Amino acid sequence: LPTRSGTTPAPAPSRPLDVLGVPGEINLDYAASAPCARAAADAVAELLPWYASVHRGAGALSRRCTLAYERARQTVGDFFGARADDHVIFTRNTTDALNLLARAVPAGTTVVTFAGEHHANLLPWPRGSVRLPVPTDPAGAVRALAAALTELRRDSNAALPVLVAVTGASNVTGERWPVAELARVAHRHGARIVLDAAQLAPHAPVDLLALDVDYLAVSGHKLYAPFGAGVLVGRADWLDAAPPYLAGGGATSHVGPATHDVTWATGPARHEGGTPNLLGAVALAAVCAALAGADRAALAAGEQALLARLRTGIAALPHVVELRTFGPDTPRVGIVSFVVAGRDSAEVAARLAADHRIGVRDGLFCAHPLARRLLTEAAGRTGRRDLPPTALRASVGLGSTPAQVDRLLAALATLG
Ligand code: PMP
Repeated sequence: LPTRSGTTPAPAPSRPLDVLGVPGEINLDYAASAPCARAAADAVAELLPWYASVHRGAGALSRRCTLAYERARQTVGDFFGARADDHVIFTRNTTDALNLLARAVPAGTTVVTFAGEHHANLLPWPRGSVRLPVPTDPAGAVRALAAALTELRRDSNAALPVLVAVTGASNVTGERWPVAELARVAHRHGARIVLDAAQLAPHAPVDLLALDVDYLAVSGHKLYAPFGAGVLVGRADWLDAAPPYLAGGGATSHVGPATHDVTWATGPARHEGGTPNLLGAVALAAVCAALAGADRAALAAGEQALLARLRTGIAALPHVVELRTFGPDTPRVGIVSFVVAGRDSAEVAARLAADHRIGVRDGLFCAHPLARRLLTEAAGRTGRRDLPPTALRASVGLGSTPAQVDRLLAALATLG
């Protein structure tokens, strides 16, 4: 708008990690899908006029798209600390990445997980996988894994591979799991480890090399990029030896007349059959580049302040009970699950939306074994018999504000 003096003020400069949103709508559901960052939107807008086939055309537009796609692969791999010989395979999301790895593990592999995982890290694994109970503290997770791997190695053929599959941060509680320690234990027992970084990556740097994990899976839509692109990063050998995840064009280097006369490509192409999601990959890479250039310690400090505000506010409401797996002081990302005593969670979520324009998630968060256990634990801890069978979850990130958190707390206060 023109100012009083008649001059038009310069628009505020948009920064790559600003997020898009709708004025008046309070989004506290980043853990489901985070809003799109300016960096991602700009990268998509810049590439759209060049839209053409990736890996399949000789024209200038097509060549630029192929280059952009392969550059995106490099940027994403670098951002996650990929080793020089790791593969960076674009997938649809974390679920897709973990399913791809599940299909690529050698025959006879035992996968070891904890029951605290998201379904995406529980359900894809082959029969015979081991699911350890949810531990009561992070050190207990490390001890339980060591004991399980010792037993597994004693009871089964030591030559058979073992893969440990763990989350970096819980999508239910935001609690961080001791990834580096779990990786050390896994490697000490000759196992590999895959990190489900869907919830950790949006909040903290995740570096394969530094954590010494073998594979990592993430979703672009939780990392401020649009839906549709995720990535599996990790060791090449199993992936190159596995049947292609998506058989079809692009996954082959030779197809002859006979049905068996097929030579599959090696490298990422082997598992990326079909025309790839160029815009998704480029958007994800743009966010990675923006985050790589940001002061992530400052971003994390801002988020932790919001988280503390939210948790302190919830603790002050006698009718609201926080869910947690570990002790209250366990490091977390910006996620809190809770229940309102005596209230149905779906009804509370609907009221928050309708009366306060606040978006949160309700349900069991695609982590049924964990969420049910935490609901039972919360009932035991508080002695309350009026807790509902499902929960609510609020989550924050880039662009979230103290005023938004306060609006949620004020709305919850009215439900007492
Ligand atoms: N793992 C965790 C920890 C998650 O929070 C999610 C998404 N809620 C997933 C995996 C699956 O992600 P996507 O739905 O993007 O595949």
